[in-house]
This record gives sequence, structure tokens and C-alpha cells, in this order.
Amino acid sequence: MKIGFIGLGNMGGPMAANLAAAGHEVTGFDTAPVSIDGVSMAPSAAEAAAGREVVITMLPNGAILRAVAAEIVPVMAGGAVFLDCSTVDVDSARAVAADAADRGLMALDAPVSGGIGGAQGGTLTFMVGGGAEGFAKAKPLFDIMGQKAVHCGPSGNGQAAKICNNMILGATMIVTCEAFALADKLGLDRQAMFDVVSTSSGYSWSMNAYCPAPGVGPTSPADNGYKPGFAADLMLKDLRLSQQAAEAADADTPLGAAATALYAAFVEEEDGKGRDFSAMLPRFEGRGRG
Ligand code: NAD
Repeated sequence: MKIGFIGLGNMGGPMAANLAAAGHEVTGFDTAPVSIDGVSMAPSAAEAAAGREVVITMLPNGAILRAVAAEIVPVMAGGAVFLDCSTVDVDSARAVAADAADRGLMALDAPVSGGIGGAQGGTLTFMVGGGAEGFAKAKPLFDIMGQKAVHCGPSGNGQAAKICNNMILGATMIVTCEAFALADKLGLDRQAMFDVVSTSSGYSWSMNAYCPAPGVGPTSPADNGYKPGFAADLMLKDLRLSQQAAEAADADTPLGAAATALYAAFVEEEDGKGRDFSAMLPRFEGRGRG
């Protein structure tokens, strides 16, 4: 397949490399100078997109997605698939998809879970909004870049699934870190805490797969000085998207709001910027109630 790939950063770079390694003809564009194995670079987004059967975007936010879409949608071939894998607000996803559909394109919003390791290993999970025909056309590409693709319904529903998932993730990571800090003060050994919770009803991905306590559980960013796998700043971005969506939809999300406020303080007023989102544990260590 002839594929255009726009946004070749930490996630997009390895995703594009996996598509090229699987034999697809991939033409890339990024505003930063990048070089990706097997991917030929175009001088602009429009040139990466023109004439391709599928154009994939993996960009930082909704405003940038809207700007890139305005550039590429007019030059894309009729019937082509516009596959956005960025995490953006539901409104931007729906606006871009509506514009693409008006011009005879099949638009999918397909944000991912699995992080940089998943992008490199081709084990991402895709949550996909858009039409069935576009989903079927993109499915072989999801199978190369990921291990699972869930069709969540019409445009915007992929982003809706992503921000709901990450609202759960943010809140469970915080409470897991709080619980470790409480357990420390109660004199409970961290290994015992992990052994109990990871096999009891408090278990979660945050505890079992990404334990925030160093030296306990599987290897995680906690064992690497909290250097980001998933940065606290990105968690804050996703939590803010969840709160923006909750406000627009009139949904009551008090724990999501509390998690957003805690990550905002951590990133913007404390030392969380540039650290992994599980560095909430050292944040809570040594703190008291007052
Ligand atoms: P990144 O900053 O590493 O990559 C974004 C790339 O987009 C950069 O290379 C940048 O130069 C490029 N870019 C910016 N503006 C552009 C433009 N106008 N035209 C072309 N290229 C442009 O970010 P990332 O970690 O790869 O994340 C990309 C998306 O994936 C984000 O929406 C993020 O929320 C989401 N995501 C990231 C992770 C993760 O663990 N990093 C996990 C899941 C989802």
C-alpha cells in the first residue's frame, strides 16, 4: 500500500518504520529533521499525502491536527483513508472527520495505548472511531502496528474511549501511589504490599504492570529513576481532555477532576515535568495530611 505518514516523533517514527519493514511504501513528513528506516521523506505534508491510499497522522494535539488536515485533505485522493492516531479532543477529531468526509475521504480517529514500547514492538492497542469501510481498509495496518484494534463506533468515539481509559489510569496511578506512601507509614514492607494488592481486589495495571515503587514488581520507570515511559505532562494533557469532554457532555467526573488537579500541581508547580507519571509516589512520600 502507498502510505503517507505525518508526525514521526517518539510514537510515529517506530510505527512508520514497522509499516515500511512489512513491505509498504511509506512517505513521511515531519517539521523536525528526522530519518526513519525504510521511509522516504517528502518536503511537505501535502506532498507526503497526495496520491496515497492511506495517510496516517501522529501529532501532538488537536490544533496541530486541524492545521495539518487543512493542508492535506484537499490534496488527498478520493476514497483514501485519513487515519489519525494522535490523542486529541473529541471536537477536533469530529471536525476533521466531517471535513474529510465532505471531500470523499474515509476518516478514522484511532488513538493508541501501549506507549513507545508498544509503538516499537508493534503491540499497540487502537481504539477506532469512524465508518466500517474505512476500518476494514485500515485493519491490515493496525495488525502490523498493534496487537488489537477495537471499532468503537462513529467518528470521535476512538478519542472518547482513549480519554475515558486514561482518566481511569490517572486516578488509579494516584491512589496506588497514595496507598504505597500510606503503607510505608504503617510499617508495611513494599514487597508485601505488592504481593498482596497485585493478587487482591486492589489490583490494577498501575500496580501489576507498571508498579510505581522501585525494586518491586516488574521492571518499570520507577526502576530507572522515573525517566518517562509515559510522562506526567502527557498524562496531564489526557486528563485535561477528559475534563473538557466531561464539561461539554455534562458528565460528573469528580475523581477525574481531582486527578487532573493533582497532575497539574505536580507538573506545573512541583518537580513533575519531564518525569514519569508514576513519580507521584516520591511526591507522596514524606508528606503528611496538613
Ligand atoms: P512527539 O512530540 O515525540 O511527536 C510528535 C511529532 O509531530 C514531532 O516529531 C513533531 O516534530 C511533529 N510535528 C509537530 N507539528 C507538526 C506539523 N505541523 N507537521 C508535521 N509534523 C509535526 O510525540 P509522541 O510521543 O510521538 O506523541 C504523538 C501523539 O501520540 C500525541 O498525541 C500523544 O498524546 C499520543 N500518545 C503518546 C504516547 C507516548 O507514550 N508517547 C502514548 C499514547 C499516545
